[in-house]
Amino acid sequence: MIQLTKHFYLSEFIRSGVAQAHSIGNTPSLEVVSNLQYLCQQVLEPLRLWADCPIVINSGYRCPELNRLVGGVPSSQHQTGEAADIRLPDKATGQRYAEFILENCRFDQLLFERTSSGTCWLHVSCKRKGNRQMFRPNVKV
Ligand SMILES: [Zn+2]
Repeated sequence: MIQLTKHFYLSEFIRSGVAQAHSIGNTPSLEVVSNLQYLCQQVLEPLRLWADCPIVINSGYRCPELNRLVGGVPSSQHQTGEAADIRLPDKATGQRYAEFILENCRFDQLLFERTSSGTCWLHVSCKRKGNRQMFRPNVKV
């Protein structure tokens, strides 16, 4: 088991039901692992410590084939290990998490994404250089 930070393991960022169903390995390169670790250090671990409860990752790394299968945009930062989707029990929790990230973390994009059926999650990304601190509070997918 590869540990990225105190509360996050690599396995949480590469598991995927879709990848399993299609027998896709979704194996990250060392560069991707390093990027995932950076994302944990900059955003996810500080959020975890502040929230004081488990932060569940819906989707982390996606190899190009997996990204296509799940309908990700071709430029998706999930393909470089720079992005993760955080599962939310409800909208209010998402708003609290978003506020914390906005005020305390260095990030590239923070998107509050939701489907028409009401499922919502936070997409957050972080790069080593050129982070845009771009927040979009309402992205319909
Ligand atoms: Zn995402």
